[in-house]
Amino acid sequence: MPERIYNFSPGPGTLPYSVLQEAAVDIVNYKNKGIGLIELSHRSKEFMAVADEAEALIRELLGVPANYKVLFLQGGASSQFFMVPMNLLQPGDKATYLNTGVWSKKAIKEAKLFGDINVAYTSEATTFNRVPTDAEYEVAAESKYLYFVSNNTIYGTQFPAMPAKDAMLISDMSSDIFSRPFDVSKFGLIFAGAQKNIGPAGVTLVIIRDDLLEQVGDTVPTMLKYKTHAEKGSMFNTPPCFGIYCVGRVMNWLKEQGGVSAIEKINRKKADLVYEVIDSTDFYRGHAEIDSRSMMNIAFNLPTAELEAQFIQEATAVGLDGLKGHRSVGGCRASIYNAFPQEGIEKLVDFMNDFSKKNG
Ligand SMILES: *Cc1c(COP(=O)(O)O)cnc(C)c1O
Repeated sequence: MPERIYNFSPGPGTLPYSVLQEAAVDIVNYKNKGIGLIELSHRSKEFMAVADEAEALIRELLGVPANYKVLFLQGGASSQFFMVPMNLLQPGDKATYLNTGVWSKKAIKEAKLFGDINVAYTSEATTFNRVPTDAEYEVAAESKYLYFVSNNTIYGTQFPAMPAKDAMLISDMSSDIFSRPFDVSKFGLIFAGAQKNIGPAGVTLVIIRDDLLEQVGDTVPTMLKYKTHAEKGSMFNTPPCFGIYCVGRVMNWLKEQGGVSAIEKINRKKADLVYEVIDSTDFYRGHAEIDSRSMMNIAFNLPTAELEAQFIQEATAVGLDGLKGHRSVGGCRASIYNAFPQEGIEKLVDFMNDFSKKNG
């Protein structure tokens, strides 16, 4: 067995190898204390220090203002699809959503249970191959917020810049949080399932502006109120301890890489190498329109479904794993999150060039 293959999976995705190695030791015997990390009481001073450090690093790396809470929740990003409107909308309240893929569509469905939802833009007719510019949609009058998915994991599209609209932003950043800097203060709430860019499945990061905690109605169950978790520092009940630990270690790794601005440059360079191959021949066709291309997920097609199957099979055989596209788009997809190594990109690029020469 090789020590490590190149994992292009969209999620759970590649994590820094050094973090996996650290976790493998800590899970058995945390800091030589004779107790495994996942055996520690979440109220022990050892674990409280783990959670505090993770939060502090998140705040530092993203520049989270003091009037925002950082929460570690469970239920995946998908639970945020209903928690957001459940906490922030009263019956009859309006909100504006941008429909740029499966994840926004699911969020819209849930939001409609709680409020008057305006879908101001959709690219569904072209299989979500693009995201809108600010000029292409209006935020409905009296909207409580504008909701969008910053990176559309399945289609390989990404907002090149965050919407500059006169509205409080809410974003599902599951697949690109910490991949590039942005101004947190423009947002009311940001959430991300950890398993794409920042940790293992099982922990969901939520960053929420203080004042929004108070908007929640009395009929919302205790566990589903952000306020409950904010007041108890994510320790109202047993939090996802292992996930929080890993997120902290990934944040530490990211800081060592130079932080979010530094990783953005690396991400840009990595993605450009793959897009250059796609653009250099008719053999490969990118799914996303050029202005909407993602740095995290690169979705592309080959001339036929047979060639795509052969491509994926031969790639797997040389240690390039997880390149199959999502069933709704077909084709291939290379997910190259923060921790995906440069050498793997070079190997993919060589493989793509060889494959198109042989089969083109
Ligand atoms: C993967 C993903 C989700 C779903 O995350 P879960 O944690 O599985 O619920 C939601 N949104 C985006 C953008 C994703 O990439």
